[in-house]
Amino acid sequence: MAVARILFTLPLPEPFDYAVPEGMEIAEGSYVAAPVGPHDRLGIVVEILPDSAGEGRKLKAVSEVYPTPPMTRAMRDFLAFAARYTVSHPGQILSMALRARSGLLPSPVETVYEATGAEPPRMTEARGKVLEVAERSAPMSAAALAEAAGVSSGVVKGLAESGALRALEVETDPSFPAVNPGLKGADLTAEQAEAAEALRVAARAGGFQPFLIDGVTGSGKTEVYFEAIAEVLKADPAAQVLVLLPEIALTQAILSRFEARFGAPPAPWHSGLSDKERRRTWREVAHGRARIVIGARSALFLPYRNPKLIIVDEEHDGSFKQEDGVTYHARDMAVMRAKLDEAMVILASATPSLETIVNAETGRYTRLKLSARPGSARLPDVELVDLRADPPAKGMWLSSRLVNEMRVTFEAGEQSLLFLNRRGYAPLVICKSCGERLKTPGTENWLTEHRYTGRLVCHITGYSIIKPATCPYCGAKDSLMGVGPGVERVAEEVRVLLPDARVEIFSSDTAQGGEATRGIVDRMEAGEIDVLIGTQIVAKGHNFPNLTLVGVVDADSGMKGGDLRAGERTYQLLSQVAGRAGRAERPGRALVQTYAPDNPAMLALADGDRDGFLQIERDVRAELGLPPFGRLAAVILSAPSAELVDETARNIAALAPNGEGVELYGPAPAPITVLRGRHRRRFLVKAPRNVDLPAYMSAWVAKLKLPSAVRLSVDIDPYSFL
Ligand code: ADP
Repeated sequence: MAVARILFTLPLPEPFDYAVPEGMEIAEGSYVAAPVGPHDRLGIVVEILPDSAGEGRKLKAVSEVYPTPPMTRAMRDFLAFAARYTVSHPGQILSMALRARSGLLPSPVETVYEATGAEPPRMTEARGKVLEVAERSAPMSAAALAEAAGVSSGVVKGLAESGALRALEVETDPSFPAVNPGLKGADLTAEQAEAAEALRVAARAGGFQPFLIDGVTGSGKTEVYFEAIAEVLKADPAAQVLVLLPEIALTQAILSRFEARFGAPPAPWHSGLSDKERRRTWREVAHGRARIVIGARSALFLPYRNPKLIIVDEEHDGSFKQEDGVTYHARDMAVMRAKLDEAMVILASATPSLETIVNAETGRYTRLKLSARPGSARLPDVELVDLRADPPAKGMWLSSRLVNEMRVTFEAGEQSLLFLNRRGYAPLVICKSCGERLKTPGTENWLTEHRYTGRLVCHITGYSIIKPATCPYCGAKDSLMGVGPGVERVAEEVRVLLPDARVEIFSSDTAQGGEATRGIVDRMEAGEIDVLIGTQIVAKGHNFPNLTLVGVVDADSGMKGGDLRAGERTYQLLSQVAGRAGRAERPGRALVQTYAPDNPAMLALADGDRDGFLQIERDVRAELGLPPFGRLAAVILSAPSAELVDETARNIAALAPNGEGVELYGPAPAPITVLRGRHRRRFLVKAPRNVDLPAYMSAWVAKLKLPSAVRLSVDIDPYSFL
């Protein structure tokens, strides 16, 4: 009997050997179930060993092979790479690829009924109603048909027996409709056409080729990569294309654009899918039938059979970095996946990350530039408002300059957008009587006041209470006061300043789920909102033709905290926000309120000098040996008590291997010192570029024996320093 070496979706360090029963069709990459302890577990075959490998061994047998095409060699190599790079067990990474296990089985079938046109021998009113519904709609299940007709499902059964309805067996999750790469795209501008042609040439040639589409917001990056998708699909009838977008940008608008361009909607993958939608996409991808997949970062771990093009749109976006569990950066992993699959990869952004810019400048990526918006649309003029010279009135947040512009805009019948990246009413609540700041119990996290819900909420842990009438520290009555601005408070100010304007808030509190988001976007597009006040949810994806003024309420808020990308991120976010203005014929302007108008990020924003700004950032990082010129990794330890975490941290520090040029910082209390009752400490490891930091980290972790109450996580290329 042959022997199959199986990797399970369990956090085990290695695969295990099983006997393959006579007659079982199995291959490398097959998805199988086999017993681990008392239960059958899911895994994949990573290797088939000759019969001799089983001699003299008592091996358990493989229980079942799933009817899914085996996982490709390139995908298995990719998962192995990801495990090694993120210092995780291979089985943990395999679980990420198997997020929809029911997709391994064929689609369930259900019985639906259609009218045959025959008259039933006995006609009743109820039967008449059912037949009327059946004749004018697509085939439906008995329950659905009965409900639509307002009768019991027995009536449907009776009609089927009499021959007036015909029963059909259909799949509950059918294949996606075929996409058509032959439809005509937009008439491209000269600049767009040139970029599209470079991509088409590469698509026909095939092989691993990384591109950066570096184009200002609204310059047509999407239109250009549509051409690449069409060419890839035409060149190979089995080719699959993956488009990764920040989750927040996965709106109906972008899905409709795909549908318009390719004649059918793409297969979606994101956290909002139902189990049924999820298994459908998984199955269709695994069988190679889903040809365009559009998804959030985890779509990278779907089992494509023949991925020929991966697009990472808004490649600079922070949400591509997965921070929980296995930490990975989907953009970097996408490039690796494309390499292993010999596919093309396109990163697109108006504000590419420094990492990507450096890759483009050193020639690793081919850069395609789009410098203009098509037609008459223009980039907005950006002006800094120096809040030191034009301070808002006490307790207010808008300068007279911004308020004047908002008035002019409103009177002209145009729309304004105010951006403030703070949910709720006030980010801090203090007691006027004793001066205490309200915090989540046992932590240093401030509570944010939310006026709409009347609650105080911790945005880090989710802890929330009804706003108390008395101070929990000193008992004073009505002494709690919100400090600083949140979107709700700015909305309050605007309602006083422009009493006739229709004001709405757009944040994750007001737009929960696709429906609510669409509602706000639709009202904004239809001109039913005059002033929209939003958090970073407004920065992406939306085109509002009548939006001509963008006001940034507090440009400095993202600069605090001092992590290495604070300046870069502030620049990216604010230029995305400013780019919302002036998308159509009307010119737009952006006013940026700041107390630090001399900061390089602010100056670059005002001058539209992105490249000058990146040059400064680059010099600083090169000087300090920070990414992309050096490597970073973080270790976070947590334990139920401060004593335990401190002691463990000291022991761990002593075990860090020596590495040439590797510097270890810490242990230090993490900025979020206590999270869900656990005390947290951090290490930061810095190394020169040529050091294999994942290997260093695995060597370190392998030496550790942690007390069971202590948790450790390794974050390679950390983006968040909390
Ligand atoms: P980006 O992805 O760079 O932000 P988009 O591709 O979304 O830009 O284009 C912005 C808007 O301009 C979209 O509504 C798009 O349909 C339109 N557009 C871009 N290029 C053209 C073109 N050549 N002809 C017509 N409309 C275009």
